[in-house]
Amino acid sequence: MNVNKKNQIDPLGIYVHIPFCLKKCAYCDFSSFSCQSEDNIRDYFEALHKEIRNFARENQNSDLPMVDTVYFGGGTPSSVDAGQIEATLALLKEVFVIQDTAEITIEINPGTLTADKARRYKKAGINRASVGLQAWQDFLLKILGRIHNQADFIRTMEILKNNGFENFSVDVMVGLPGQKLVDVMETLEALMVFSPTHLSSYSLILEPGTPMANWVEAGQLDLPDEDEEREMHWAVDGFLKQQGFEHYEISSYCRPGCESRHNVKYWELEPYLGFGLGAHGFFQGRRYGNTNELRQYGERLNAGKSPAVFEPVMAPDEMMSEWMFLGLRKLSGIRDADFITRFGESFFVRYGEVIKSLIADGLLAWDGSVLKLTDRGQDFGNRVFMAFV
Ligand code: SF4
Repeated sequence: MNVNKKNQIDPLGIYVHIPFCLKKCAYCDFSSFSCQSEDNIRDYFEALHKEIRNFARENQNSDLPMVDTVYFGGGTPSSVDAGQIEATLALLKEVFVIQDTAEITIEINPGTLTADKARRYKKAGINRASVGLQAWQDFLLKILGRIHNQADFIRTMEILKNNGFENFSVDVMVGLPGQKLVDVMETLEALMVFSPTHLSSYSLILEPGTPMANWVEAGQLDLPDEDEEREMHWAVDGFLKQQGFEHYEISSYCRPGCESRHNVKYWELEPYLGFGLGAHGFFQGRRYGNTNELRQYGERLNAGKSPAVFEPVMAPDEMMSEWMFLGLRKLSGIRDADFITRFGESFFVRYGEVIKSLIADGLLAWDGSVLKLTDRGQDFGNRVFMAFV
């Protein structure tokens, strides 16, 4: 079943979705399910492995690029038996050529990692962890409906360190109900003790239909106002830069050279495959997305059908538009020379008026070769991105 393995110029990323969590958080509308039986989880992995094998069969005559990033996301990949992760990674290695230097990440939620799992992940080749802390304070973790507390997080950090995981990211959130600037700063200061190589800082987004959105709507919880939320964002930014982190994408900070190589592919419109429930991919110029329905996902694969809906091959203008608004998420900005190399014309030919007006509004800056977000542009990122759609 090996597909033709050949190294090509653009290596490929692989995202694998593990849609299980021990409990649903109050703000979550991701593709994730709690309280699943062992049978359901086993069936899911069987379907997932079928999807990977089907891909291999359908592409057996193609020259597939080598893989340089693998990302197990969720859900909570660390909540399932380590044997399922090992088997999935072993299958990926059987089907693809995964570079020796590949970045292989797993998302971990505190309270689900054991020393045995960490040891097995490491042995299987996983070399990066992304840990969902969100906040240091137990009262905030409770409001969020997280399963863990501060002590669980500390234990997770110890397990990772004891098992040789030096490269790890931590997720934190700002704009939480009841959260004050002082809580955000306490979270960051506490985190520095563990020496993460990467931090992602997200603003809470209230997703309609989630318990948290309902509580806020019913007046049972108060969110910080927009100014307070922005103050938190800029405090995070200032603190992390002072600690030597680089702000390389709207929500992402890293020690020099420790960007998430996998996520950078999304912002640079590089190819990646997505396997698993609700996973998305961008391959051979086409985007595709798998069904979000757990039952349908298994049924389609069991019936020998694809769980994906494929979009048509992306038209050049669509590709240009995505390249602009995804690329502008990077704080280093986008180079006109790269646009010319990729699309054969300057981005000013295509978007001159849009760019001029965003520069006039103080949202973008142009230095003669690079176009990038200003500080004000970060505060109004969506306005900038939508201008290129
Ligand atoms: S751990 Fe993450 S994916 Fe799971 S329910 Fe909470 S927010 Fe959602």
